[in-house]
Amino acid sequence: MNNNQHLSMLDSTRAFLASTQKMLIDGAWVQSTSGATLDVINPADGELLARVPSADETDVDRAVLAARRAFDDSAWSRMKPTDRERLLLRVADLIEANARELAEIESLDNGKPVTVAQGLDVSMAAQCFRYMAGWATKIEGSTLDASIPYSPSNAFFGYTRKEAVGVVGAIIPWNFPLLMASWKLAPALATGCTVVLKPAEDTPLSALRLAMLIEEAGIEKGVVNVVTGLGRTAGAALARHPGIDKIAFTGSTPTGKAIGRAALDNMTRMSLELGGKSPVIVLPDVDIDKAAEGVANAIFFNSGQVCTAGSRVYVHDKVFDRVMERVAAIAQSLPMGPGLDASTQIGPLVSARQMDRVLGYIKAGRDEGARAIAGGARKEGAGFFVKPTVLVDTDHSMKVVREEIFGPVLVAMPFNDIDNVVAKANDTPYGLGASIWSNDLSAIHKLVPRIKAGTVWVNCHSLLDNAMPFGGFKQSGFGRELGRAVIDMYTESKSVLINYA
Ligand code: ADP
Repeated sequence: MNNNQHLSMLDSTRAFLASTQKMLIDGAWVQSTSGATLDVINPADGELLARVPSADETDVDRAVLAARRAFDDSAWSRMKPTDRERLLLRVADLIEANARELAEIESLDNGKPVTVAQGLDVSMAAQCFRYMAGWATKIEGSTLDASIPYSPSNAFFGYTRKEAVGVVGAIIPWNFPLLMASWKLAPALATGCTVVLKPAEDTPLSALRLAMLIEEAGIEKGVVNVVTGLGRTAGAALARHPGIDKIAFTGSTPTGKAIGRAALDNMTRMSLELGGKSPVIVLPDVDIDKAAEGVANAIFFNSGQVCTAGSRVYVHDKVFDRVMERVAAIAQSLPMGPGLDASTQIGPLVSARQMDRVLGYIKAGRDEGARAIAGGARKEGAGFFVKPTVLVDTDHSMKVVREEIFGPVLVAMPFNDIDNVVAKANDTPYGLGASIWSNDLSAIHKLVPRIKAGTVWVNCHSLLDNAMPFGGFKQSGFGRELGRAVIDMYTESKSVLINYA
């Protein structure tokens, strides 16, 4: 922890980090039953940041039972929608009141610049609670007049109710820890569900701090439980637990498949937000500087650790050299450093494991003939930094073009024919996001329906709004988060038929 001393940080952040971390089960802050802990490492210097309980099956079981009791028997289960709304608004206010501390915790734990953590992660988390608070009072079914042929003498009235799905197991990744926790908790609470949340082992701290704020808001015990632990133990125990009604997962596609298989054994409902290899298409009419800035931002934001990262760029060959020269210049100019340093734009990757994975991909790309026109190596010294990297001379036979890297590595390819670029853009098992850069209205509108992706951005990339559904086509997932669509993911539909003859 000593290496953080020179960076300015709130006293409350220091106090939080210095305290013994516990997890929240049934309204009590507890250690793991086994007493095991996990080290949480600061990725900017490789030093120990905190220790959290390492939950196993026993702890997960206790948390699920607590959530079940809260769902079946507590005041929460009988609460009026307006009261749920008020509680969620209170959580949003508390997130905002503690924004700087949450941002510092996130920055230290994940590595991202504190300015981004505060301006984006924390503020979007608060907005998410506020947006979902509004839904609490707007969950509706429908009415219908039934005409049942073999019962002519009776009169029927039918209606549907949307009911909370029940106990939600939420498993979240390490790239936007607070925001992903909010994306799961806010709709679950708005619909009246109860939750067991398992944050990623690399970044458990902001979820624990958020759970404190949820308690402070007055949400009763057992409604939100947080278990910290490894994916293969705590995560797997949660995914296969017969006591949960729904799994909400964000993470890699292979882990999502494993979770989906386990969930299906119990017919547990699931929403899976998985990986991506999102294409960025630059048409020839663009302003070179603006497009280059957009392309760079699409891949290097959050050090490329974004499921929608624009990790493949296809630039029309009339402008390829000029755009890519500029992208490479931007890549080389982005200040790298610890997240708490206000001048940092590129923080470290989340862990040594992730850094090694990304460096392994860069090596594989070079071995297959790709050429780095920016980056291509780690930054020497402490911390898990990889320089923003741009690879050219790439093609679709290469691993770097086909697989999700989840780091600051862009592969660039020229094109000269729209049909060809559509085929290339869709030549991936993924379908999460894509962007088109152009002001040619006709070309844009023709392209949008041809791209197989859950979100297509035009002249922007990876921008999200709470009102817009978010999720993937193909192997990028199952179901949608945010917007009206997410309410269906946390509710069951019940049909009621009344014979009033
Ligand atoms: P990464 O490999 O980069 O850590 P994952 O998709 O595996 O990404 O991790 C996302 C989340 O899934 C984390 O909270 C992790 O602990 C959890 N997880 C990993 N493996 C499993 C598993 N087999 N079952 C349930 N959860 C898991």
